[in-house]
Amino acid sequence: MFRSIREVMRRRSSEALNGIAGKRIVTSWMSVFRAEVDAQIPHDENTLCDLMQKGQYSCIGKSHSYNGVQLAPGTNAMMMREGGLKWLEYREKSETVVVGASVSVEELKRFLLKHKRRMVNSGNYMAQTVIGALITGTHGYGKGPVMADGVVRLVFLNDSGERVELKKGHPDFDYVVLSFGVIAPVIEVELKTEALQRYTSDAYITRLSKKDSLTQGAEAVSWACAPYSDPSDPMVMVHALRPLEGEAQPAKTKGPRLFSLSFIVEWLIRQLWLMDRVFPSFRRKLQRFAYRLKIEKHQHKTTAEDDLDYLYDPDPGLKRDRGPDLLTGFFATTHTAYNLAFFVPLDRQEAVVRFIMLEVENYRDLGFYLKSMIGIRELRGTSDLPFAGTHHGPVAAIDIFSDPRDYAWLERLQREVIAYEPRTRPHFGKSALVPEYREVLGKQHLRKLFKIHMRHFPNQRLMFSEPVRRLLDIGKALPGTSAADAQLAADMEEIETRA
Ligand SMILES: Cc1cc2nc3c(=O)[nH]c(=O)nc-3n(C[C@H](O)[C@H](O)[C@H](O)COP(=O)(O)OP(=O)(O)OC[C@H]3O[C@@H](n4cnc5c(N)ncnc54)[C@H](O)[C@@H]3O)c2cc1C
Repeated sequence: MFRSIREVMRRRSSEALNGIAGKRIVTSWMSVFRAEVDAQIPHDENTLCDLMQKGQYSCIGKSHSYNGVQLAPGTNAMMMREGGLKWLEYREKSETVVVGASVSVEELKRFLLKHKRRMVNSGNYMAQTVIGALITGTHGYGKGPVMADGVVRLVFLNDSGERVELKKGHPDFDYVVLSFGVIAPVIEVELKTEALQRYTSDAYITRLSKKDSLTQGAEAVSWACAPYSDPSDPMVMVHALRPLEGEAQPAKTKGPRLFSLSFIVEWLIRQLWLMDRVFPSFRRKLQRFAYRLKIEKHQHKTTAEDDLDYLYDPDPGLKRDRGPDLLTGFFATTHTAYNLAFFVPLDRQEAVVRFIMLEVENYRDLGFYLKSMIGIRELRGTSDLPFAGTHHGPVAAIDIFSDPRDYAWLERLQREVIAYEPRTRPHFGKSALVPEYREVLGKQHLRKLFKIHMRHFPNQRLMFSEPVRRLLDIGKALPGTSAADAQLAADMEEIETRA
C-alpha cells in the first residue's frame, strides 16, 4: 500500500514537471525503467525543428510504455505530449481525422464525438498520445484491432527538420507507421474513423470449454483467466460485443443467489485487485475454491452510443469516473501491477494460457505469484504492417501481470512462451524486447526499417532505446554508457553493407 502511495506521489511530482524544459529523470509506466534526459518542449513545429538541431535527440509521447522503449538516456528528449502540436481536423469527405503529435487518445475521442464519429479501435487507457500509442502497435480487440492499421497518411521530420509525407501505398509507409521510435518525430497522422455504434455486451463467469459457444457470432471477444484455477478447464470471465440490431433489451444479470456461498466467493473474486496487493498466496487458494464452486454468471447490457470506453466498460460514462478515486487509484492493476504482453496465433491461445498456468504453478514455492487475471484479447484480420501483431494473421494478445518488483519473472515467462510457441510476436510497448523476437519479426523487415532510418537520419542524431538497438542488431550495449554516447553502432559501414 505504501509503495502504491509512493508511486502515485512520484507520478504527481513528475506531472508537476510537465511543460518544463531541462534535465529530468523520465520513467516508464510503473517506473521499472528510467533514464536521465534533457527534456525539450516542442511548442510548435518550428521550435521542434530548432530543438532537433541541438544534438542527439529522441522522442517521448506520454511515456506510458511499460518496457522502456521510449527511453534513450542522455538525449534531448522531445516531450511530444507536453508540446503544442495539438491540431485536430475532421475531413468529412474522406471520413478521416488529422491528428497532431501532442494529442491524447481521449482528446481525439472527444473531438470525434462532436462529429458523431469514433476511432476504429484503441487500447484501454486514454492518456497516451495517439501517435505514441499507434507507433508501438497498440490495439484493442475485435474488428480492425491494430490502431496503426487505421492510418492512411503520416508526416515525420527528417534530421534536417524537413517534412516527409508518406501515404498508404508508399513502399516505406507500412514500416514507418509502426516503427517504435526508429523513425521520429512523426508529427501528424491521418486516421480512418467509423460511425458511432451501439453494442450488446455479454459478460460471463464460466469455464473455458464454454467460451466458443457463448461467443458465437460476436464481433469482439476478450477473456480473462484465473491463473490459479484448474488448467484442464480454467475459470474464465468472457466478454463478447455484438453490434446492436433492433431495440436494446433491458440489462439483466443471471448468477448465484444473493448471499449464497457462490455469491460471496464471486464478490471476493471481484475484489481480487484489492487482495492481490496484500495477500498474494491467498489469491491462489481463493481461485481454487471458487473453481470448485463452479460459479456461473451472465450479465447482459447495451452500450451507449457516445461511450468512449465501451470496449472495456459497457456502462455509460468512463469507468475511472465511477467509484472513489482512493480505491481505483491505489489498488487497480493499472496503478499497482507491471504488465507484460505478447501475441500468439489465435488457434494457440488456449494452449499458451494453459502453458503459462502450469509454469507459474512451478514458481509458487519460489514466492512468485501472477497478479490479477491473465488477459486475452482476440485480434481478428491480417495486417499489412510488418511489425503488427496480426501481420501473419489473427492473434490473441496475452497480458500477464505481476508486482513491479517481480517484473523479471514475467520476462522469464515470456522467454518460456517463445520457446513453447516460436510464432509469438512482441508488443513494442509491453513486451520485453529481446533479440529472440528477431526471427519472428523477420530480419529482412528489421533491416528495411533501419535502411529507411539511415536514409532520413544520416547525421545519426536520432537515438532510440537500447533494447530496440539490440533488436535491430545494431550497436552494442555499453555498460555505464548512455545511448547518446554509444552512437548507433560501432561500425556504420558494416551495418550499411548488411542493410
Ligand atoms: C495503463 C496502460 C494501459 C494500456 N493499455 C493498452 C492496451 O489496451 N492495448 C495496447 O496495445 N497497449 C496498451 N498499453 C500500452 C501503450 O498503449 C503503449 O505503450 C503506448 O505506446 C504508450 O503511448 P505513449 O504516448 O505513452 O508513448 P511512449 O511510451 O512515450 O513512447 C512509445 C514509443 O513511441 C515513440 N514515439 C512517441 N511519440 C512519437 C512520435 N511523435 N513520433 C515518433 N515516435 C514516437 C517513442 O520513441 C517510443 O519508442 C497500455 C499502457 C498503459 C500504461
